[in-house]
Amino acid sequence: MAERFIYMDHAATTAVSTGVFEKMAPYLTQHYGNPSSVYSIAREARRAVEDARAEVAGALGAQQNEIYFTGSGSEADNWAIKGAVSAVAGASAAKASGASANERNKRHIITSSIEHHAVLDVFKMLEKQGFRVTYLPVDEHGLVRPEVLSAAMRDDTSLVSIMAANNEIGTVQPIKELAAIAKSRGALFHTDAVQAAGAAPLDVEDLGVDMLTISAHKFYGPKGVGALYIRSGAKVDRFIHGGAQERARRAGTENVAGIVGLAAALGAAVADMDNNNKKLIALRDRAIREIMERIPHTVLNGHPDRRLPNNVNVAFRFIEGESMLLLLDMKGIGASSGSACTSGSLDPSHVLLAIGLPHETAHGSLRLTFGLDNTDEDVDYLLEVLPPIVERLRDMSPLYEDFIKKGSV
Ligand SMILES: *Cc1c(COP(=O)(O)O)cnc(C)c1O
Repeated sequence: MAERFIYMDHAATTAVSTGVFEKMAPYLTQHYGNPSSVYSIAREARRAVEDARAEVAGALGAQQNEIYFTGSGSEADNWAIKGAVSAVAGASAAKASGASANERNKRHIITSSIEHHAVLDVFKMLEKQGFRVTYLPVDEHGLVRPEVLSAAMRDDTSLVSIMAANNEIGTVQPIKELAAIAKSRGALFHTDAVQAAGAAPLDVEDLGVDMLTISAHKFYGPKGVGALYIRSGAKVDRFIHGGAQERARRAGTENVAGIVGLAAALGAAVADMDNNNKKLIALRDRAIREIMERIPHTVLNGHPDRRLPNNVNVAFRFIEGESMLLLLDMKGIGASSGSACTSGSLDPSHVLLAIGLPHETAHGSLRLTFGLDNTDEDVDYLLEVLPPIVERLRDMSPLYEDFIKKGSV
């Protein structure tokens, strides 16, 4: 065991900051009332939820009544997509209300091929149910090109969902242009902004999106709480049936402490964004530059500059990412690779395949995502331990042996 642990996997989750934790604690132990009740500790809880809603609305340029709290980013993504298509189906069933033929037949929906599974798998399910789905390709940097979306739009397209920034390769999409295209053709536009929140300015009016997802644990808030922005007037069905919470659209007693934590964390992330990004970009750019200099046969995955401030994703040819993660862990570094190891399969990530990496190269990918707790010394240490690990794995690699013999593969 290494004596220190350096966490370089902030895209997976972050620690709750001390300031956020302190704001949450009273809502677990003192103001524990059910916000729907009438006595004073309940009124305090209700007020905290509504203050949090106002803070989140302010941070996103939304109205307070357009913010809905959820149990996760995944839930918010599911709600946005299922709620939108179900509202269209509802319009179709309501023939008596005079839904137009166009409204009735909107069975085409669009997403990108590099979405998080919380979006992608919902589209796959809807496809099985008979929806026509277009999975937009991306370019070699992971960008969805606006002209590609334009060409895919049809008269029966009801929904477009494209993530603001990718969780694996960090590519930041031109959401404003993409949303304008969807809107001009009468479709709703949703963006999964879970990775972008706190890292890039998000103003729902400026972006022109109809729905936007965030999740607290990606920006130093607690796990198990997210939020969905739904533009006032957008036709999106309720998601969880039951009580009247969240304007009767998402039932369930509110996670008051979690909601307080989400709002406090988002407020801090937005207030400190410029300083934080400056620090993270310096760590990111140094790590990319020196890794590429010190380790031959390495490629940068993602966009050279349209990328999240904390994201490094590099592919080391001829090696296998999972072994690299284990060796890094033994040296006390927590990172992530390009395989879908979470699903128990060894398939390379759909994102790396979508940007055109061959399977073998995708397998040798390493994702490092820095956070506010990382320092220049952490990067020094990374640069000390990573090159010998890659070298050691290449020495054992038959692919590398072939390459050395033939000078190519
Ligand atoms: C983490 C993540 C999610 C899921 O959020 P949870 O709150 O963990 O469910 C969705 N989309 C992206 C891009 C993510 O990074």
